[in-house]
Amino acid sequence: MSELVDPSKIEDIVGIARAEHIHFGKLVSDEGVLYILHPFSCLQRHGDDLRQCPFSLALDNGLNPEDWDLYWDDTVALCIIQNSEGSRRPAPSFRFYNGEISY
Ligand SMILES: [Zn+2]
Repeated sequence: MSELVDPSKIEDIVGIARAEHIHFGKLVSDEGVLYILHPFSCLQRHGDDLRQCPFSLALDNGLNPEDWDLYWDDTVALCIIQNSEGSRRPAPSFRFYNGEISY
């Protein structure tokens, strides 16, 4: 089950300001934890219980390590990948460095 993080700390942990619509995240290697920074639109929709957000629900299925090979400790925009068994998991779509998309 996803755990809720102090909202005042999550931007610092993930390393980017909260966005309007994009879910950001950082997989912290020291802890083996994926921190999710939910955008304002998600807070409006699921503010009472962010564990109902699709990204939180996907995180409950764990991570596919292969998706994250090159993205440990990076600030990334998140997407959700569904495998052939229909299981959904959060995965990185692209990374950020100093607030800019980094290719
Ligand atoms: Zn969310």
